[in-house]
Amino acid sequence: MLTCKQCGTQVEENIKFCTNCGAPIEAPAEQASAPAVDLSAKLTELNNTADTTAEYDAQDIEKNKVMALLAYIIFLIPLLAAKDSKFARFHTNQGLVLFIGAILSSVITVIPIIGWIIAPIAGLAITVLAIIGIVNAIGGKAKELPIIGKFKILK
Ligand SMILES: [Zn+2]
Repeated sequence: MLTCKQCGTQVEENIKFCTNCGAPIEAPAEQASAPAVDLSAKLTELNNTADTTAEYDAQDIEKNKVMALLAYIIFLIPLLAAKDSKFARFHTNQGLVLFIGAILSSVITVIPIIGWIIAPIAGLAITVLAIIGIVNAIGGKAKELPIIGKFKILK
């Protein structure tokens, strides 16, 4: 049902003029929501990364979810405490890349202006990526992070 803007009468969707006052009935504006849809499509596309969960042992995943999560907070813990876990290693690798990224983004703050602009953006991106990584780890997924997922430091 659509509502007549003129008199507020409810009319059928396919009717062009109000049955009460004869005012033209406008279809709901679809353009207003288009940019939002576009942005979410872009984000989905950006997050459409390789998911290699199937290559990991289900027991390993179940046992080492917390270690995988910790990889994004203190990567050294799973590196030492779960070094035999392939699943934890996958996430430790991404945690390590983010850690290096965080160091680099704090180093570039020594560059006046450009560094001051880039560093907070990089810091925000790293935070967002770490959150996605933590969500994947808790969900038992070995899914590459957008942008940095291709970097492999640990063998
Ligand atoms: Zn009307």
